[in-house]
Amino acid sequence: MPLGGKPTLIDSFQPPIFSWATTLHPHAAGLEAQIKSGETPVFAEVTPQYRGMAPDHPSLEPFYAMAERLDVPVGIHMGYGAPGGPYWVYPKYRAALGNSLLLEELLTRHPKLRLYVMHAGMPLIDEMIALLFSHPQVYVDISADNWGVPRPEFNRHLRRLVEAGYSKRIMFGSDQMVWPQTIEVAVDSIANADFLSSDQKRDILYNNAARFLRLTPEQIARHHGR
Ligand SMILES: [Zn+2]
Repeated sequence: MPLGGKPTLIDSFQPPIFSWATTLHPHAAGLEAQIKSGETPVFAEVTPQYRGMAPDHPSLEPFYAMAERLDVPVGIHMGYGAPGGPYWVYPKYRAALGNSLLLEELLTRHPKLRLYVMHAGMPLIDEMIALLFSHPQVYVDISADNWGVPRPEFNRHLRRLVEAGYSKRIMFGSDQMVWPQTIEVAVDSIANADFLSSDQKRDILYNNAARFLRLTPEQIARHHGR
């Protein structure tokens, strides 16, 4: 849900109508330099769904190849957009493009890609579970779901992911840049989930992301005030 904040290069990227397979994106060299300088540590939020594109649209291929080659995590928006979005703010958004199974060819083409599905592809949770089963490198985040989806509905989806065995691959996020009060709501969605153990809460709120992002022991210690 791109709601505001400073757009990254890839977030503001408008896809061309031809394939990049035989050409080089003019921003590619600059982006690679940004990665190497540490200025761009992650490609997220990648939002092809809002542009009416499948997540493995050929125009994005050079960026995925670069991410795999340079070991950059990639977060792709899959799932809910703005309510009724196609009729006011996102004319090209299509709910069907939030089906996380659309990622399968991309994942098998780039098996080392560190990909996380933003918003856990909600509400298409069966498809999300199928993807997690077959592609063990994939993580999800639950950003925006944890404050924007009615809590009973969110709880059902989260509980399914956990009961299906994926509590080690769910990452907390807020995707919030406009209404900071909702971050408190999002934290509460985990802290007060009675179907989660305290270990599962710690995993979702921190440990899973630390593993996925490969935080160093020093970074982890610093985050814990040690
Ligand atoms: Zn999003």
